[in-house]
Amino acid sequence: MIHLKAPWEIAAMRGNGRRLAEVAFRLKEAIAPGITTGDLDRLAEETIRGMGAQPSFLNYAVPGAPPYPASICASINEEVVHGIPGDRRLEEGSILSIDMGLVYGGYHADMAFTVAVGEVDDRVLELLDATRESLYVGVSRARPGLRVGDIGHAIQGSIQPHGFGIIRQYVGHGIGRQLHERPSIPNYGKPDTGDLLKPGMCIAIEPMITLGTWKTRVLRDRWTVVTADGSWAAHFEHTVAITEQGPEILTVLDGDPEVADPIR
Ligand code: MG
Repeated sequence: MIHLKAPWEIAAMRGNGRRLAEVAFRLKEAIAPGITTGDLDRLAEETIRGMGAQPSFLNYAVPGAPPYPASICASINEEVVHGIPGDRRLEEGSILSIDMGLVYGGYHADMAFTVAVGEVDDRVLELLDATRESLYVGVSRARPGLRVGDIGHAIQGSIQPHGFGIIRQYVGHGIGRQLHERPSIPNYGKPDTGDLLKPGMCIAIEPMITLGTWKTRVLRDRWTVVTADGSWAAHFEHTVAITEQGPEILTVLDGDPEVADPIR
């Protein structure tokens, strides 16, 4: 069953998307060489709780792993997703992916972004730009009458000219009262296949792209996902509502140019 949200539910999720975008804004301001990922986690948790919301990821449970111990995922360089924040200090010349969610009034919002810490080489900048761009290309296909496979196909087509790897094992998802709902939203696919997209669907689209292989492995902490070849990875994610008029990105600040013109 795919849960179609009523307009009032989308309004609630829009508010939560704005809240989460505010948290992202504060984190981006704080990210710099020398800060630890644990510092960023504390800043995120304080900001989320200060809004009266709760972090969606804290104590998140999946079979075969201990409950997730933090409010954000902080994944550095070859870490793709689910990196656990701690005492590690950010170093000049690295990249950091932050993934986070909050729940307020019974509805979740979920977003992710990757930033360079200081200067990185051109191929790494290309990775960040291409991953971000592929997210917006995917978002542009999130419209009634198209199918889940159209989103994945568009993301894949946007990445392939760069020769980057597209992670297959971790995918986007429906979102609402649960952090993860049906349907799954892969970052690859065939046109006109998969579930039909309908007004009222809310989905998290989240391409995870690497400089090398699409293959991954999980570290002994049973959470941190790294590329199998050690190549660096980027991750961008928005929560998106599918409306009669087309996609609406929920995880943005008011006045952000992305609201008016998501495809840049
Ligand atoms: Mg997600």
